[in-house]
Amino acid sequence: MRVYKSIELLVNEIDSIKRRRETIGLVPTMGYLHEGHLSLIRKARKDTDCVVVSIFVNPIQFGPGEDLKQYPRDLNRDLRLCRASGADIVFFPTSKIMYSNGFSSYVNVEGPTDRLCGASRPGHFKGVATVVAKLFNIVNPDIAYFGQKDAQQAIVIKKMVEDLNMPVKIKVQPIVREKDGLAMSSRNAYLNPCQRRQALSLYRSLKLAQELYKKGEKDPKKIIKGMRRVILKEKGAKIDYVSIVDTKKLKGLNRISEKALVAVAVKIGKTRLIDNVILN
Ligand code: AMP
Repeated sequence: MRVYKSIELLVNEIDSIKRRRETIGLVPTMGYLHEGHLSLIRKARKDTDCVVVSIFVNPIQFGPGEDLKQYPRDLNRDLRLCRASGADIVFFPTSKIMYSNGFSSYVNVEGPTDRLCGASRPGHFKGVATVVAKLFNIVNPDIAYFGQKDAQQAIVIKKMVEDLNMPVKIKVQPIVREKDGLAMSSRNAYLNPCQRRQALSLYRSLKLAQELYKKGEKDPKKIIKGMRRVILKEKGAKIDYVSIVDTKKLKGLNRISEKALVAVAVKIGKTRLIDNVILN
């Protein structure tokens, strides 16, 4: 496994991989890897000849007052996990390398970025789309892998790729959960044992949505009401949103007649957690 900080050296290696006509799979991450990330790396290993994992805590997707500084980091552990999961190359640039003096070009995907996390984190998806576009240009992957955990992010990236004719296929992989149902996230490391228990309310609310829908409930308002009740039973939980939306434009639904995304964002103490399920 090779580790690169420098864009130039990585691009040289990508050039030789391309000359050998090998396929490239890219897994973009912010590091502090867990099974969710590793599932993407393993899938890329199965699909493609050369697996590139990027580890970069992207400053431009964090708003003022968010957790950029505290975001957990452990490069040595990440490198071990990358190697064990079958990565060939790890790209680990610094902010200076990614955003050199005078950087001023951004990718703005209008529409799906206004809602859900986009509404409460202004500028977040502009930062995400910009860094992913840069990674696509640097790594030139055939396939890029994203997690359903960040459902809105996957939709935004697919829209960017379609709108801007980027020559890359996007594959979205299922959410990996802890045994008790909590969606794996690097941010779970912030939770103390009491908050860890409270965090389960996100999963419980999504299970309730699935149950109600299975029983025939098609009214999003009623489902959302039940979900909010489940979450707010936990004293430390503050709801950012509980939404049921269509899976393309992320617009609210009056009635669930098509595939619907049930998405929640909840603050447990200072930690903002997200999770979702799809109703089919
Ligand atoms: P992050 O490091 O949080 O930016 O995540 C990097 C990639 O891993 C994104 O595409 C996430 O959607 C994906 N990911 C994060 N957590 C999970 C999870 N629990 N299951 C599946 N994919 C995940």
